[in-house]
Amino acid sequence: MIVFNLTCSNDHHFEGWFASAADFERQQQSTLLSCPVCSSNQVNKVLHAPYVNTGSAHKPSQRERHAQNGAEQYANVGDEVSQLIEHLIANTEDVGDAFPEEARRIHYNETPERKIRGNASREEVIEMREEGIEVIALPIPRYRLDKSH
Ligand SMILES: [Zn+2]
Repeated sequence: MIVFNLTCSNDHHFEGWFASAADFERQQQSTLLSCPVCSSNQVNKVLHAPYVNTGSAHKPSQRERHAQNGAEQYANVGDEVSQLIEHLIANTEDVGDAFPEEARRIHYNETPERKIRGNASREEVIEMREEGIEVIALPIPRYRLDKSH
Protein backbone atom coordinates (compact mmCIF):
# COMPACT_ATOMS: atom_id res chain seq x y z
CA MET A 1 0.00 0.00 0.00
CA ILE A 2 1.07 3.55 -0.72
CA VAL A 3 -0.24 6.62 1.02
CA PHE A 4 -0.50 9.80 -1.01
CA ASN A 5 -1.13 13.29 0.23
CA LEU A 6 -4.01 14.54 -1.89
CA THR A 7 -5.61 17.86 -2.54
CA CYS A 8 -8.88 18.79 -4.23
CA SER A 9 -9.76 21.72 -6.48
CA ASN A 10 -10.92 23.65 -3.39
CA ASP A 11 -7.54 23.16 -1.72
CA HIS A 12 -8.66 20.68 0.94
CA HIS A 13 -5.87 18.36 1.97
CA PHE A 14 -6.36 14.72 2.84
CA GLU A 15 -4.70 11.31 2.60
CA GLY A 16 -5.55 8.41 0.37
CA TRP A 17 -4.36 4.79 0.48
CA PHE A 18 -3.74 2.93 -2.75
CA ALA A 19 -2.41 -0.45 -3.82
CA SER A 20 0.03 1.28 -6.17
CA ALA A 21 0.68 4.47 -8.10
CA ALA A 22 -1.22 2.90 -11.00
CA ASP A 23 -4.17 2.18 -8.72
CA PHE A 24 -4.27 5.86 -7.75
CA GLU A 25 -4.25 6.92 -11.40
CA ARG A 26 -6.98 4.48 -12.30
CA GLN A 27 -9.20 5.77 -9.50
CA GLN A 28 -8.37 9.36 -10.34
CA GLN A 29 -9.23 8.91 -14.01
CA SER A 30 -12.48 7.09 -13.32
CA THR A 31 -13.41 9.85 -10.80
CA LEU A 32 -13.82 7.28 -8.04
CA LEU A 33 -11.76 9.63 -5.92
CA SER A 34 -13.51 12.44 -4.19
CA CYS A 35 -12.65 14.95 -1.51
CA PRO A 36 -14.04 13.92 1.92
CA VAL A 37 -14.81 17.59 2.68
CA CYS A 38 -16.51 18.88 -0.48
CA SER A 39 -16.86 15.70 -2.63
CA SER A 40 -14.96 17.32 -5.50
CA ASN A 41 -13.70 14.77 -8.03
CA GLN A 42 -10.81 17.05 -8.98
CA VAL A 43 -8.26 15.26 -6.83
CA ASN A 44 -4.53 15.52 -7.33
CA LYS A 45 -1.48 14.31 -5.53
CA VAL A 46 0.38 16.88 -3.45
CA LEU A 47 3.94 16.93 -4.59
CA HIS A 48 6.66 16.04 -2.19
CA ALA A 49 9.51 18.48 -1.93
CA PRO A 50 12.09 16.55 -3.97
CA TYR A 51 9.85 16.65 -7.04
CA VAL A 52 9.01 20.33 -6.94
CA ASN A 53 10.99 22.74 -9.03
CA THR A 54 11.68 25.52 -6.55
CA GLY A 55 13.14 27.86 -9.13
CA SER A 56 10.66 30.60 -8.28
CA ALA A 57 9.47 31.70 -4.87
CA HIS A 58 5.87 32.51 -5.75
CA LYS A 59 3.05 30.18 -4.80
CA PRO A 60 2.24 28.04 -7.83
CA SER A 61 -1.06 28.78 -9.53
CA GLN A 62 -3.67 26.06 -10.03
CA ARG A 63 -2.51 25.73 -13.62
CA GLU A 64 1.13 25.32 -12.62
CA ARG A 65 0.22 22.74 -10.02
CA HIS A 66 -1.54 20.74 -12.72
CA ALA A 67 1.54 20.90 -14.91
CA GLN A 68 3.73 19.70 -12.07
CA ASN A 69 1.37 16.86 -11.24
CA GLY A 70 1.52 15.76 -14.85
CA ALA A 71 5.29 15.70 -14.74
CA GLU A 72 5.30 13.64 -11.58
CA GLN A 73 2.89 11.11 -12.99
CA TYR A 74 5.19 10.54 -15.92
CA ALA A 75 8.05 9.90 -13.54
CA ASN A 76 6.03 7.41 -11.53
CA VAL A 77 4.89 5.19 -14.40
CA GLY A 78 8.37 4.41 -15.71
CA ASP A 79 8.14 0.67 -15.04
CA GLU A 80 4.66 0.38 -16.40
CA VAL A 81 5.54 2.23 -19.57
CA SER A 82 8.44 -0.15 -20.12
CA GLN A 83 6.13 -3.13 -19.66
CA LEU A 84 3.59 -1.55 -21.98
CA ILE A 85 6.26 -1.02 -24.61
CA GLU A 86 7.39 -4.65 -24.38
CA HIS A 87 3.78 -5.75 -24.67
CA LEU A 88 3.14 -3.52 -27.68
CA ILE A 89 6.26 -4.68 -29.47
CA ALA A 90 5.35 -8.31 -28.85
CA ASN A 91 1.74 -7.87 -29.95
CA THR A 92 1.91 -5.56 -32.95
CA GLU A 93 3.19 -6.00 -36.46
CA ASP A 94 5.74 -3.41 -37.59
CA VAL A 95 4.58 -2.08 -40.95
CA GLY A 96 7.04 0.82 -40.98
CA ASP A 97 6.22 3.66 -43.33
CA ALA A 98 3.13 1.83 -44.61
CA PHE A 99 1.42 2.50 -41.29
CA PRO A 100 -1.12 5.14 -42.44
CA GLU A 101 -2.09 3.03 -45.47
CA GLU A 102 -2.37 -0.20 -43.48
CA ALA A 103 -4.29 1.50 -40.67
CA ARG A 104 -6.82 2.74 -43.26
CA ARG A 105 -7.14 -0.69 -44.92
CA ILE A 106 -7.84 -2.23 -41.52
CA HIS A 107 -10.26 0.56 -40.63
CA TYR A 108 -12.21 0.07 -43.86
CA ASN A 109 -12.12 -3.74 -43.59
CA GLU A 110 -9.97 -4.13 -46.68
CA THR A 111 -7.57 -6.37 -44.81
CA PRO A 112 -7.97 -8.63 -41.74
CA GLU A 113 -8.01 -6.69 -38.50
CA ARG A 114 -4.77 -6.78 -36.58
CA LYS A 115 -2.63 -4.57 -34.39
CA ILE A 116 0.07 -2.69 -36.21
CA ARG A 117 2.68 -0.08 -35.43
CA GLY A 118 4.75 2.08 -37.71
CA ASN A 119 5.57 5.57 -38.79
CA ALA A 120 3.21 8.43 -39.49
CA SER A 121 3.67 12.14 -39.82
CA ARG A 122 1.76 14.57 -37.62
CA GLU A 123 -0.48 15.47 -40.56
CA GLU A 124 -1.19 11.82 -41.32
CA VAL A 125 -2.13 11.20 -37.69
CA ILE A 126 -4.54 14.14 -37.76
CA GLU A 127 -6.12 12.84 -40.97
CA MET A 128 -6.47 9.33 -39.58
CA ARG A 129 -8.12 10.63 -36.43
CA GLU A 130 -10.55 12.66 -38.53
CA GLU A 131 -11.49 9.42 -40.29
CA GLY A 132 -12.16 7.80 -36.92
CA ILE A 133 -9.02 5.67 -36.85
CA GLU A 134 -7.65 5.45 -33.35
CA VAL A 135 -3.95 6.12 -33.29
CA ILE A 136 -1.76 6.69 -30.29
CA ALA A 137 1.78 7.96 -30.22
CA LEU A 138 4.11 5.42 -28.70
CA PRO A 139 6.62 6.67 -26.16
CA ILE A 140 9.21 4.45 -27.75
CA PRO A 141 12.57 5.52 -29.07
CA ARG A 142 13.01 4.31 -32.64
CA TYR A 143 15.91 2.02 -31.72
CA ARG A 144 13.64 0.05 -29.36
CA LEU A 145 11.29 -0.73 -32.24
CA ASP A 146 14.07 -1.70 -34.60
CA LYS A 147 15.45 -4.12 -32.01
CA SER A 148 12.46 -6.41 -32.45
CA HIS A 149 13.45 -7.38 -36.00
ZN1 LIG B 1 -12.51 19.53 -1.15
